[in-house]
Amino acid sequence: MTPPDTSLAEALRPQAPVGTYRLFAAGAHAGLQDHLEAFGPLDIESIGPDFIRVLEASGLTGRGGASFASWRKMAVTAESRSAGILPARPVVIANGAEGEPLSFKDRTLLANAPHLVIDGLLVANRAVAGSQMYLYAASASLDEAAPAIAERPAARRIRLVQAPEAFIAGEASAAVNAIATGAARPLDKRRRLAESGLKGRPTLVLNVETLAHIGLIARYGADWFRSVGSPADPGTRLVTVSGPGPAQVQEVAGNAALGAILRDAGIDARSLSAVLVGGYHGRWVRPLDYRISPAGPDGQTVRPGAGVIHALPADQCGLAATARILSYLAGESAQQCGPCMFGLPAMAGVLNRIASGEPNPRLTGELNRLGKLVYGRGACHHPDGTVQLVSSALDIFADDVKAHLTGRCLRQGGRAA
Ligand code: SF4
Repeated sequence: MTPPDTSLAEALRPQAPVGTYRLFAAGAHAGLQDHLEAFGPLDIESIGPDFIRVLEASGLTGRGGASFASWRKMAVTAESRSAGILPARPVVIANGAEGEPLSFKDRTLLANAPHLVIDGLLVANRAVAGSQMYLYAASASLDEAAPAIAERPAARRIRLVQAPEAFIAGEASAAVNAIATGAARPLDKRRRLAESGLKGRPTLVLNVETLAHIGLIARYGADWFRSVGSPADPGTRLVTVSGPGPAQVQEVAGNAALGAILRDAGIDARSLSAVLVGGYHGRWVRPLDYRISPAGPDGQTVRPGAGVIHALPADQCGLAATARILSYLAGESAQQCGPCMFGLPAMAGVLNRIASGEPNPRLTGELNRLGKLVYGRGACHHPDGTVQLVSSALDIFADDVKAHLTGRCLRQGGRAA
């Protein structure tokens, strides 16, 4: 039999995507044929533990919020496999539970590039010698991904688990808990999932966008991934941009300038009061000459978190906007830890009094006092992320706070709402 002509196969292989248009290069709602035409085939069977070194060289960090080095999570999971008395094969979870109300990048990705996510999940599973794979996402996203999974024999072992529509449902340990028990509540943060996660097995939880990048790195390599972005923040990331005008998902280079992202979204930065970066656990920033990156000096870069960029028009009150978000977050506590359960509603009550213009100069001190009581006292990051948001609001909207404490508002026609 004539051996396959590998040089011909290489010549026919599609070119790697150029520039920042990568994840959606197969087009809208890409089926398997579109996916293969855009990216070429991927030999999953050739992937082994060596891929972790490729991932390390790529510099990919998680795109779900915390921005951990993806290779490190993978390496700890692979090592934990044989660390216990009895070897336990790892579990790999694709986390598409996008609980953040201002984000829809993950659902957009699952709707348009499900095969790239599946590639990444299969690659990650091979790299850590995993035995079980899950896709954990909201019901609508599972409906989008299910036909793609059915198209691929290797993917049929992926189990689909529905994530509830709750802010905290996407937290990694909540994802594990939801798969194990049906309750999407975070687990004790002292427990490392990579060592002991689902049913005590080493568990690798990766955001679906992170997996899509892994699907491309497995094809084109670390140098290709690094060909856009900066040395400290290589590759691209998806961001959801909202504010005036319709919300949209953009793929941007690592370390991209915030002003350029807003401009590309059709938003005039001069018309804004401030921008919320990173989502409801993120930070308000102003002026807008920041870069979006998990790595870089404070004052010049702002962490992308879940990739949310929300622009607040100049005539809207940042204190009122933050009070609304804080009220929502207080209602999203998983009701497991006292400081979170009682402290966040108390903080929301005080911030709402400031936002409504109550002339009481002691309110900011009370808000800071409650923030200190809550910070670091939860089983998950929810209280800390919430305190960070409030503290950035008190800082960025300091002039607004002063005005509100005298019953005035600098925006919305001068009247505190
Ligand atoms: S800190 Fe809050 S959200 Fe997190 S586990 Fe405790 S109660 Fe739940």
